[in-house]
Amino acid sequence: MFVCDKCGLCCMKVGSSAIYSILDRGDGVCKYFNSASNLCTIYYDRPLLCNVDEMYKAHFKDKMSKEEYYNLNYKVCKQFKQRQKEK
Ligand code: SF4
Ligand code: SF4
Repeated sequence: MFVCDKCGLCCMKVGSSAIYSILDRGDGVCKYFNSASNLCTIYYDRPLLCNVDEMYKAHFKDKMSKEEYYNLNYKVCKQFKQRQKEK
């Protein structure tokens, strides 16, 4: 299972991604993100884009192993955290 520490950084930066920008509420943050709880308000109905395991099954399972796919995602998480530290 993909391990997410719920930092919320990916949900706060949807505006910086061409694919995720459809979720932008206007200031770069996802319209479904709750800043108070730091959680997704539609978690169980979140788009495929936001569901690592379902995305893997739908689009990547024939291209790479699940571990490789998780590692690509962890890399992005790490970049978000690094950028946040540098602020
Ligand atoms: S950046 Fe990564 S760890 Fe943070 S909420 Fe998003 S998926 Fe989870
Ligand atoms: S839909 Fe939910 S999981 Fe996806 S970016 Fe928005 S708040 Fe995050």
